[in-house]
Amino acid sequence: MAKIPMTTPLVEMDGDEMTRILWKIIKEELLEPFVDLKTEYYDLGLEHRNETNDQVTADAANATKKYKVAVKCATITPNAARMEEYHLKEMYKSPNGTIRSMLDGTVFRAPIVVKGIEPCVKNWKKPITLARHAYGDVYKNTEMVIPGPGKVELVYTAADGTQTRELVHEFTGPGVAQGMHNLNQSIESFARSCFTYALDTRQDVWFATKDTISKKYDHTFKDIFQEIFEKEYEEKFKEAGITYFYTLIDDAVARVMKAEGGFIWACKNYDGDVMSDMVSSAFGSLAMMTSVLVSPHGYFEYEAAHGTVQRHYYKHLKGEETSTNSVATIFAWTGALRKRGELDGSQALQEFADRLEKATVSVIENGKMTKDLALITSLENPVILNSREFILEIRKELEK
Ligand code: NAP
Ligand code: MG
Repeated sequence: MAKIPMTTPLVEMDGDEMTRILWKIIKEELLEPFVDLKTEYYDLGLEHRNETNDQVTADAANATKKYKVAVKCATITPNAARMEEYHLKEMYKSPNGTIRSMLDGTVFRAPIVVKGIEPCVKNWKKPITLARHAYGDVYKNTEMVIPGPGKVELVYTAADGTQTRELVHEFTGPGVAQGMHNLNQSIESFARSCFTYALDTRQDVWFATKDTISKKYDHTFKDIFQEIFEKEYEEKFKEAGITYFYTLIDDAVARVMKAEGGFIWACKNYDGDVMSDMVSSAFGSLAMMTSVLVSPHGYFEYEAAHGTVQRHYYKHLKGEETSTNSVATIFAWTGALRKRGELDGSQALQEFADRLEKATVSVIENGKMTKDLALITSLENPVILNSREFILEIRKELEK
């Protein structure tokens, strides 16, 4: 069979530990036999980041700006232990953080739904995609312990020196106070990322804040979303047959629990932190969760939501068998290949991505899976495969 051609390369960012092992097997067994794979390769493995003083991470992000589509393997974010383990010249920043700030994006995470791995919420029939704003609010706050009676104020000093004051509270005893902020530009780019992703995946957008209580802060989020929607997206949404729905955060939570899924839930930073953990664990497993960084400039970077699975890697190094789930990493590749196919007008590439996803899901639905899923499946007598066997089983299914 002739291999599926690719016209434009996509950016390939290799990574660390167990996911690096899976990366290689996935390429050899599931991609290269079927696709004439064209990638611009960047080795973000910690050793090479160290050799290049982390320049390779910036280079990979810049290449993503050029080619618009990237696929990334999980990478180590160094801490003190890693400094020693890898003899690092410095404690490099998280590659995801570096890439995110260069591409200016929002992270979308969605569960991979498979029969036999049922969400605990019975009525969730389709995935719920969480879109988390990743700037500001309580994550960039300033806090104060108030020791006793006194006045706390917010003071804004304009460039010309004029001051505006708001009383926070007249304390009669000890307490606490907090100041936080956000930027219109960041909220705008968050809104555009959500609406662009919705058009891309043909899903409705839900957004919620507490604007009835926070009449300036949260209301600004609501207003910016509404304004950008009306100006730039309303017509396109009509054409695509999708909607934008705004409600209060408590109402949104109640509705999500009764909904059947299949929409994008845009969340402010804190709401997204809390709700994405709830949604992902209710759907089963972090290894069954896709993650894509969407930038308002039209760049897409696909990855798995989990880390490098260090514990399994150390077992692998000792020559012991591992049963590491490669589904999220396979779906990072299919996401990137499908997007490449869309941008290049290659139907064949898009269909290959669909087929590979289907084959992956079929293997699990036929009762063959890695250990993490075997522990939670509702299927009877699941067959537990090791890391390589699971990928080989997908290849067999794909060849059918
Ligand atoms: P992790 O790699 O996500 O793994 C934590 C645990 O979750 C594993 O020990 C394993 O549990 C389970 N798990 C995660 N992915 C799995 C998979 N694909 N198949 C089976 N089980 C899976 O998190 P970590 O061990 O805390 O972090 C390791 C390294 O990853 C760190 O250096 C961190 O900096 C990095 N990290 C990178 C990213 C990224 O690049 N996006 C994200 C998070 C963390 P059991 O041991 O119980 O089997
Ligand atoms: Mg969290």
